[in-house]
Amino acid sequence: MFQGELKQPVSRLQGIGPKTSAVLSAAGIVTISNILKHYPRGYEDRMKITGLAPALKSNDAVIINTPALITSHEFFGRPPRQTLKVMIEDEAGIPASLVCFGRGFLADKLQPGRLIMLYGSFQNRYNELQSSAFEFEVLPPEATIETAADEASALSDFGRILPIYPLTAGLNQKPLRKAVSHALSEWAGNIETELPEKIRLEYKLLTKPEALRQIHFPDSEESCTKAVTSLKFEELFHFQFAAARRAFKRKSVHKSVRPVSASERKLENRLLGSLGFKLTAAQDRVLAEIRTDMSSEKPMSRMLQGDVGCGKTLVAFIAALNVIESGGQAAFMAPTGLLARQHADNAYKLLTPLGINIALLTGSVKSEQRRHLLQALTAGEIDLVIGTHALFSENVAFKQLSLIIIDEQHRFGVMQRLALSGKNSTADLLLMTATPIPRTLAMTVFGDLDVSTINELPPGRGPVETHLAAIGNEQKVYDFVKKQLNMGRQAYFVYPLISKSDKTSLKDAESMFESLEKQYFSGYKVGLIHSRLDEKKKKEIMDGFREGEIRIIAATTVVEVGVDVPNATCMIIEHAERFGLSALHQLRGRVGRGEHSSYAFLIYSPELTETGTARLKIMKQSTDGFYIAEEDLKIRGPGNLSGSEQSGFLPFTIADLNTDFELLKEARIAAAALVNDDPGMLQPENNALRRLFEICPPFSDDLIGG
Ligand code: ADP
Ligand code: MG
Repeated sequence: MFQGELKQPVSRLQGIGPKTSAVLSAAGIVTISNILKHYPRGYEDRMKITGLAPALKSNDAVIINTPALITSHEFFGRPPRQTLKVMIEDEAGIPASLVCFGRGFLADKLQPGRLIMLYGSFQNRYNELQSSAFEFEVLPPEATIETAADEASALSDFGRILPIYPLTAGLNQKPLRKAVSHALSEWAGNIETELPEKIRLEYKLLTKPEALRQIHFPDSEESCTKAVTSLKFEELFHFQFAAARRAFKRKSVHKSVRPVSASERKLENRLLGSLGFKLTAAQDRVLAEIRTDMSSEKPMSRMLQGDVGCGKTLVAFIAALNVIESGGQAAFMAPTGLLARQHADNAYKLLTPLGINIALLTGSVKSEQRRHLLQALTAGEIDLVIGTHALFSENVAFKQLSLIIIDEQHRFGVMQRLALSGKNSTADLLLMTATPIPRTLAMTVFGDLDVSTINELPPGRGPVETHLAAIGNEQKVYDFVKKQLNMGRQAYFVYPLISKSDKTSLKDAESMFESLEKQYFSGYKVGLIHSRLDEKKKKEIMDGFREGEIRIIAATTVVEVGVDVPNATCMIIEHAERFGLSALHQLRGRVGRGEHSSYAFLIYSPELTETGTARLKIMKQSTDGFYIAEEDLKIRGPGNLSGSEQSGFLPFTIADLNTDFELLKEARIAAAALVNDDPGMLQPENNALRRLFEICPPFSDDLIGG
């Protein structure tokens, strides 16, 4: 019940008018829940009285929080632009001055003889202590300097630890503090503690209402730390609970279909015989690992990682053949329609000769055809279905789904993956990725997964030769590309924008498509591809490119994942500094996929940021995806690598997988213990579990999906 209430708009809060709520919602703070989760980025300790002495002893500016007596006023500078200087002293009689640049009006408030509470940065200057950046509140007339510290707690901004919130344009600390404080007093009391009580007590954590109060307006440093720990633990716990529960469920089921034994595997052997090349040693090794899993009674949960171009797809197809041979079906999910179609094309080429029935299911398959397809799938007439997330829509049912393959898994949310495995929880699961999983994630999110790595590219693949070119040198690059085209090769040109924008001078794919075709490469057929084209148009262009009729593709990052045209040898990325390292690496992975030498040209603008420079250097230095991913993490620095990009679904509001690893491990132990000690928790009718389901989205979705 409370959850619905927390979704009320912030305008429901006392004292929040339409103007403030407009500013708040522009900052993404729309609901009461949002504002309660708008955690401070820091604090000002206006509780501990420092006196002025610390500033006296230091050469640098020092933050001071003290009661002070106003002794006199002075003015300096020339009229009419005189500056007010307010002379004060602290309890110990140390004098200082407040320099009120442009704030002459303060003379009325800061009357000599009055006591104030003062917070500001003080520095020794011209033989006196000065501050020009300070905040104050005037104490009531009956206050004395001895009682001031006690009276301060009655003031709104003193005598406490004040939160400092992240701000955006138009937002100020004061109204925000007021809004949070109202949200806390009016709503926080009703919020249920989401951790099971037993665990909360065992780990000495605060209840949710108390944790929220203490993180926003802490009573002390310790209670603040405790609040942060409690909130982080709660997030991590939910996360780990979901993982533990998934692991438990998967461990407790038995598969119905097991793949054929080594003596059979007729389909696999026929495929290998038809290939014209041999599997790499690494492919052989991971296949053996996959086969062992698949022949076990427990469902497989395996991550197959390997750099772009190492041949993961083929391994997945072979795994699929083995379940198909024993009467099962396989589903192969790709993150984009483009990629799904390409995999389907490959599958038709390689697998239909073996008598495998293949279907492609994407969002653009229309109703009549779709109905047929779904029927055939349910009847078991389709052996291998390849598609996008359309594969896990509700009306898709299988006769005997035995293997689920998810390509470029990091592009899917955990929910999508689970929805597909929900089609048959005993199916084997093979996740594939070219983006190596950081250790923290491997141990946690994917804690219930085994990992196989292909650490070798097929033979004859030279590393892609990478060149950096400053803007202005395009013609040289284009001349080089022309030579490659004359030798029969093909090229990709990638741009950061689809269409021309008035706001920037960046090149865009549409305009460059025209210039490339009409001006730079007239006589060669150029194709344009980007996400706004419909599936049919995209297919037409990609088919034309694959068949070699289209020689150049002008594109956005839609060609980033998986596109496989071995005859393409040139990748030109304009405004390369605009792309992240993993995108650059993926894009470069589109070339160097065949027998010919391949080249990447990164064209950059001279106004490079430090990280932009670093990224380009790394791209020049290395073609090793694992090394690049590591460097990427270093450049982005902790705090930015919460893993959310990696996994695309970790909506932590406060926990950070990089800094909270120890806490994460504790949460993992607590969650596993809860699940293992009390398998009854797995029954949805159990109250405690229902609570875990209901509270704290998005983990609840995750849990239900499992
Ligand atoms: P990725 O791991 O990036 O998904 P792909 O599966 O798309 O890589 O494979 C890249 C290319 O290498 C494909 O054209 C594929 O046919 C080819 N390939 C895969 N395995 C081998 C091998 N053992 N020898 C030669 N070429 C291979
Ligand atoms: Mg691939």
